[in-house]
Amino acid sequence: HATKKTMADHLRRFENLFTLTPQRMRMIVEAFTETLEVGLNKPNQVVPMIPTFVFGWPTGSEKGDFLALDLGGTNLRVCLVTLQGEGKFEITQTKYRLTEEQKQDDGQKLFDFCAECLKTFVDTNSGDGPGQLKPGQILPLGFTFSYPCSQERIDHGELIRWTKGFGAPNTEGRDVAEMFKKSLAKFELPITLTALINDTTGTLVASHYVNPKTKIAVIFGTGCNAAYMEHVKDIGKIKSLGIDEDADMAINCEWGAFDSFEHEHLPRTKYDVVVDEASNKPGEQAFEKLISGRYLGEIFRVVVCELIDEGVLFLGQNTYKLEKPYIIDTAFLSLMESDPTDELLMIIGIFTHFFNIETTLAERQFFRALAKLIGRRAARMSACGIAAIVNKMGYIEEGCAVGADGSLYNKYPMFPERVHEGLVDIFGDKGRNIVTHHAEDGSGVGSAIIAAMTKIRK
Ligand code: ADP
Repeated sequence: HATKKTMADHLRRFENLFTLTPQRMRMIVEAFTETLEVGLNKPNQVVPMIPTFVFGWPTGSEKGDFLALDLGGTNLRVCLVTLQGEGKFEITQTKYRLTEEQKQDDGQKLFDFCAECLKTFVDTNSGDGPGQLKPGQILPLGFTFSYPCSQERIDHGELIRWTKGFGAPNTEGRDVAEMFKKSLAKFELPITLTALINDTTGTLVASHYVNPKTKIAVIFGTGCNAAYMEHVKDIGKIKSLGIDEDADMAINCEWGAFDSFEHEHLPRTKYDVVVDEASNKPGEQAFEKLISGRYLGEIFRVVVCELIDEGVLFLGQNTYKLEKPYIIDTAFLSLMESDPTDELLMIIGIFTHFFNIETTLAERQFFRALAKLIGRRAARMSACGIAAIVNKMGYIEEGCAVGADGSLYNKYPMFPERVHEGLVDIFGDKGRNIVTHHAEDGSGVGSAIIAAMTKIRK
């Protein structure tokens, strides 16, 4: 009879499946670059390349007091940002909790709540002292609203559809800036809504404000998306608007959708297919599903469940807890990879505490290696997206900086190093000209800078 396979034998199989070779990466970059071009020239593409109406870079000398409001997935954040010029700023902020009911309640009520929080914030931060709002002062506000919107100008945006668990009725298809202005008026706030902003665009502008070499911004959080500055003359689909051809405009790529539906370009394993098909939106966000924090833990879980079914792991133990979708958070993969002990005590802890399962050392070594394969593939995959923008804009010779944010980039061990290693695999030594760095706060500082730029432009 056949000799029993060891965990190391199994690992080799997954190494083959999850490894992205440099050659494969270059093929992805080529297709990705073409997709970016198509999205710029034709409306309603899978990767929509949304024009943001944010024109050009900040000069760094923008000054003044600005309010920023960020309607995120879990919190509402209000910031007072004082831009001091020379890339410097001060920030005061308060977070307000959103309830699940508020996310599903009428849209106008949701914006009324935002205005009410702004009122509380303005009232508590008014006075004569430094960093306080002066009575009678009218404040410009940048509103970070990171749900897909189609814009015709910076202070306008029709909500295409809610994402991230929101479902407030009477909002989709409507101009959310207009709705929000109504709420501001209701509470008689001395505030002008100046700009409606996506978080990637805010991150791009804020990162450039402090590091002018920044040309691209990428978010690696629950989702994955990027923004960069494009030449207006190369955005074919907005030619009819008659915008100055010499101007530049930030583009929100919504690149998580790359290779959706057709699945022609990205090498997906059968585990990725299982995760996709069981997701609430099968076929969509194909690129994001290989990269972002929402999915990496789930890919790991699906592999582990297959090995349990094959009788390879946890023989004789009750493993029902692992059958629950999304029960393994991507943060667990981070912890497994960074376990410093020979015995892999952290992994023992995770499996006994959360899943009531005993593990052998060989199993734990396998889990750590599997986490590494999944995390490394995500980083190298995202290097392909960055490389496509670099290609498109011709940045490789002079080099550029990439502002990156989100828990995956900030907390997953070696994530930035692996992105850099991927860029070198794609471009050779010249890949070192592209450097990622931790981004500045996009929805606070970035939003304030965009509000300032808009004010100057008007
Ligand atoms: P968001 O994208 O919602 O604004 P984050 O940038 O914090 O917020 O991303 C949240 C995602 O990051 C979640 O999917 C979570 O699983 C993942 N995550 C949280 N902590 C870590 C960690 N330490 N290592 C890797 N991923 C993490």
